[in-house]
Parts: sequence; structure tokens; C-alpha cells
Amino acid sequence: MVLEKKMSILKTLRVAATGAGCAAWLAGALAAAGQTTQAPVWSSKPDIKAFEKMENDRLEAAQRSIDQLLAVKGQRTTENTLAPYDEIVRQYNSAGYLSLLLQQVHPDAAYRDSATAMTSKVGAASAALALNQGVYKALAAIDLTGVDSATKYYVQRQLLEFRLAGVDKDDATRVRLKELQDKLVDLQSAFDRNISDDQRSLTVDSAAELDGLPKDYIDAHKPGPDGKIKITTNYPDAFPVLTFAKSDALRKRLYLEFENRAFPKNRDVLMGMVRTRYEIAKIIGYSSWADYNAADRMIGSAKNISSFLQQLDAAARPVAKREYALLMAEKQKLQPGAKEIFDYESFYLRELVRRSQFDFDSSSVRPYLPYQRVKQGVLDTAAKLFGLTFKQEPGAPAWDPSVETWDVFDQGKMIGRFYLDLQPRPGKFSHAEMTPVLDGIRGKQLPEAVLVCNYAAPKADDPGLMDYDDVVSFFHEFGHLMHWTLSAQRWAGISGISMESDFGEAPSEMLEEWMHSPQVLATFAKHYKTNEGIPGALVARMNRADAFGRGTWVLGQNSFSALSFDLYNAKPEGVDPDAISLADDKKYMLRVTTPGTHAYASFGHLGGYSSAYYTYLWDKVIAEDFVTKFDRANLLAPQPAARYRKIVLEPGGSMSANDLVKNFLGRAQNMDALQHWISEEFEQAATATWHPPAIAAVIQIQRAQ
Ligand SMILES: [Zn+2]
Repeated sequence: MVLEKKMSILKTLRVAATGAGCAAWLAGALAAAGQTTQAPVWSSKPDIKAFEKMENDRLEAAQRSIDQLLAVKGQRTTENTLAPYDEIVRQYNSAGYLSLLLQQVHPDAAYRDSATAMTSKVGAASAALALNQGVYKALAAIDLTGVDSATKYYVQRQLLEFRLAGVDKDDATRVRLKELQDKLVDLQSAFDRNISDDQRSLTVDSAAELDGLPKDYIDAHKPGPDGKIKITTNYPDAFPVLTFAKSDALRKRLYLEFENRAFPKNRDVLMGMVRTRYEIAKIIGYSSWADYNAADRMIGSAKNISSFLQQLDAAARPVAKREYALLMAEKQKLQPGAKEIFDYESFYLRELVRRSQFDFDSSSVRPYLPYQRVKQGVLDTAAKLFGLTFKQEPGAPAWDPSVETWDVFDQGKMIGRFYLDLQPRPGKFSHAEMTPVLDGIRGKQLPEAVLVCNYAAPKADDPGLMDYDDVVSFFHEFGHLMHWTLSAQRWAGISGISMESDFGEAPSEMLEEWMHSPQVLATFAKHYKTNEGIPGALVARMNRADAFGRGTWVLGQNSFSALSFDLYNAKPEGVDPDAISLADDKKYMLRVTTPGTHAYASFGHLGGYSSAYYTYLWDKVIAEDFVTKFDRANLLAPQPAARYRKIVLEPGGSMSANDLVKNFLGRAQNMDALQHWISEEFEQAATATWHPPAIAAVIQIQRAQ
């Protein structure tokens, strides 16, 4: 999920090039000769000093390529100009990927600090390149007559990125732009740090107040010396309380703490980002940051974002209203005569509906999802789907002993490598993401990437049973990994996920759908004790229960997208985060904002994504539309998957993602498939587990609209 954070850095790095230097190049050359000798990234087991040398060697190699490019006399060609430019990209990317990975996963805090400092150093070098007029003019002077379309697209796109960075402005303006960019980097990291630093907590007087929570949760929360039980705002602590605690007062109290993290500190930091970004946009010649920020994306303009939000609202609202009626019916059982639902209640009420209407308890699926089987199942599914073979390299050195190294083969030929870093440890990045290690460059460098997740490690007496949502996220991240692995191009700058950044989540969101297929689940979801396959009826109930709430979810995401857009689509003088946030909640959501909350202060994406939070939903629309080209009854059928691999994944960033979509669908994406996805729980209503009274309530509400 956290790819977006990476994307923003990638974007900087992309404009901003090799060096594991000779060693990597030699390995690449050998790979090109059909030999699979590219050593795993950690084969030299670098200590901090060796890591810093690797990184500095890459930065120096990039500088040599800049010098080489600038020194060319006479006609500029792809060979004498684009080749050294792409080498700069490759070196900066390689350095940035590795430092970013290690700052998130290395077990040693001092190593992580060194990696963090290195990420800033690479970022500064790439930002300086983005404003280098000599390099820009050299690229602009390349004779593109007769060159292939991917190369032509690469050059044109880089020129656009340079212009958006302000490369063609005068010296004083470029100095100002650099100041603003540096300021923005500081503000963004302050915004993130304020969120992670502000872990809040509350205490309850006894376990009786935790009534409704699972036993393992209560066991893990013993009273302290003062007899009180501490609950923090960390996700694994907070979400079970919000979902299961019977005490309305406790849920409300915790939600107020949760939605006030980083407030009021981040209000000022956010306004600093809003002002800084507006000034950048104005200097480049745009009327708002939202419009400027959309210029190199699929969506193209602020106006298009605005109309996308309205289309989504129209698609989701009717279903969200039906869901709201079910939630309200549960609330009225608890509070007869209740007229509204506050957002702090939504997790709890949703769980009540899942149980009463869908006869589904998420703990009933866990025994079928032991860690080892799931891991192998995800790998086997992806291998089968994309016609690949994965072979583990036993004993390959990595930054932590738990990390697995896997080689990817296509018809016997090694085409990439991935690492699985799946278990939590202190100081490690705590969510789930795919993070790249090396760009795939045809004939030169194999793509490499890492899946960074946090699943409980199996132990002798515990098979590490996984939650349904964790397995969905595993498929999601594997979608990113396959995209990265299968999209090697001639140039580093157009390989992998280098296309418009609002396409990056589509392939991963699409693969989530494979988790819903009884056919796919039957291949690996087997009871950890009895080896019995997951019952079809349970899968059906699980899918219906999972579908419940999608309309509400889309409205909620739309409200966040509108907040991200509205904050950055106006002059800063008129921006009041509290007023905008409340107005967007009111406009887009059916439930009521809990008074006294300031959710924007801890909404980290306002930093990295800025005005482009719509991306998740934009890609969801595309992902669901993509699935229509597969056979839902046989998601493992080879032909559609092969076509998808060839048309959508393999081109990487060698053409516009708008063209990738059109080439696969035969048209641009539309809302039809998403609309179907949103209403699945009602479309499947005619089953034995559906309770007619609830339907009657829903129909009444519908007529009342
Ligand atoms: Zn993702």
C-alpha cells in the first residue's frame, strides 16, 4: 500500500543515474550473455562503511556520466546523449532504492540512520540534476528521426519532467525553486515524524471495560502496577477496540485520541506545505498545485480530478445508502430512535452487520490460512498466472537472516530476482510495501525488488494463522512485484513502474481479486490441523461479508481524495484545513464527523500524495475494469493472463498508461465494473444467509430517496 511514498521519491530520482559500478555492470553483461550471474544485492555483506562507499561510488559514476554527456560535441544522438543520461538515471535509482530499503529494514539503528542520510544525499543530487540546464538542452537537441517509439516517448517525457521542475527558468528563479523544494522535503518529513511520534494512549480501570474484544487481545493487555490497562493508538491496539469493544464510551474516547494524533502541530506544517507548493506551481505557470501536480499524470488536470470525484460519488452513493440503512438498523437495536451514525461507530456497526446479515466471523477463516501455505500459495498462483518459475536461493546473504531470496525464470531463462522480508522486527517499517532494488534493463541488468511485510512468524506450537486482510495485502504487494519483474525495458528510465504515477496501484489492486476466487483459494487454503480444503460455502460467506461496506468505503476514500484535492486547489489564503475537512465529510459521507476530531493532522498522504490521493480510487476503477477481461470462473486460465502480461505489464513506462489501458480494454476505462464491484453484496443477496427483513428495510430507504 505504501508504494505511493516510494513513487514520489522515484519521481524525483527519475528526473534526477551506476555504479555498483563495474561489478554490477559486469554482472549485467554476463546476464545478457544468458548467464545468471548477477549477484544478490547483499552478497558482499556490506557494513555501514562499505554501504556508504557503494552509494558514493554510484553518485560519482553518475557525475562522470553527466560530465561525459555535457562534453559531447556536434550532433546529439541517442548513443552519445541518451545512453549516458540513462546511466545517470540507473545510478541514482540504484543508490536511492538501496538507501530507502535499508532505512526501512536494516536491523541496526545506526545503519538505518546512515541509510536515511544517504537517501537525502541522493535526493539532493537528483534534484540538482532536474534543474541542470545543460543536461536539459542536450536531451532536447537529440535527433529523434527514425528512433523507436519507446525511446522517443522516453525523451519527450523526460523533457516534460524537466520543464515541470523549472529547468528553463532564469538563474534566480531556479535558486528559489531549489529553496522551495528543500523546504518542502523538510516540511514533509516533519509532517510524517509528527504523526509517528505522537503515539497516544488511554487507560481503562479493568478488563470488564474491554468486553467484546477477543480473548487473545485481553490476555495481551494485562493491568499495570497501578491496576489500570493501557490502550495505545497503534493500529494493532486501536482497531480491535474500535471494531469489537461493546463500550460505546471507550470506542469514542479512543477514536478522539486516534483522530487527534499530530494535532495541532501538523496544522501549521500542512499550511506550510500548502503555501510552498502553491508558490512552486505559480512559478512554473499553473494556477494551482493540484493542476500542476496533475500535469504528468494519467488524469492530466485539476478539472479532470474534480469530475472524477463527482462520477465516483454518483457510482457509490446509491449502494452506500443501502449499507447505511443496515448500519442504522444495528444502531437502532442499541439506541432506539437513533437518527445518525458517527464515524467512530462505523467499525463496530459494520462488524455487527457482518455477523447478523452475513453470518460471517472473520476468525473462522484463519485456520485455513497458515503462513507457510499462504506464502507458497501466493507464489504458486503468481507463477502459474504469469507462466513463470520461482526458485529459492538457499543461504543467500541478506540484511536479516529471515529474508528469503528467490530467482525468477521465464522458460528456463532467469529474468529477475525478489526478496521476501515478511516478518516483523524492532525498528522495521511496519506496514506492507514492494520496494525496488534494481531497474530491469534488457540485456544489462535484471530487475530486483523486495516485499516488505509484517506477518507473524510461525513457531513450533503456532503455524502463524493469517487474517484474511493480510492475505489480500500479500496478493496486492505481489501484484506490484510482478509488475516490476516483468517490465524490463531497453532504458532504466522507462522500465518498471516508471509510467504516470497514478497508474501504479492498478496491477496490484487487480491481483487482490484472485484472493476472492474459490478456485484459487482451493489450491492452498487448507486447514492447518486436518488438511481439509476451505469449504466453498465459507468462501461464499466471506466474499459477501467482504463486499459489505464497499459503497461506504468508496465514499470515505472519496472524501479523503476531495480533502487532498481541495487543500491544494486554491490560493493558500483561503485554505482552512478544519473547514475544508468538515465540508468534504459532509458533502461526500453519509455518517457524521465526530466533533472534536482533526483527522487531517494524521493523514500522512497529504504530504507524499499531496493533491493526488484520488489515485487509489482511479486505479481501483482501472483494476476492476481489467478483471472483466479475465474469466471469473477460471482466473488461472493462461490466455487472458498472457495477454495482460504482454499488453499491460511488459511495456513498463515505454508509453502512456492511458494507452496501456486502451490497448488492453479496447477503450478507456469506465465506472461500470467498479459499480458492479461496489454492489456485489446486494447482487448476491438471494442466498440462504440473506435475511429478508433487512432487505425490506433497505428497499424502504431506497424508496425514500
Ligand atoms: Zn500498492
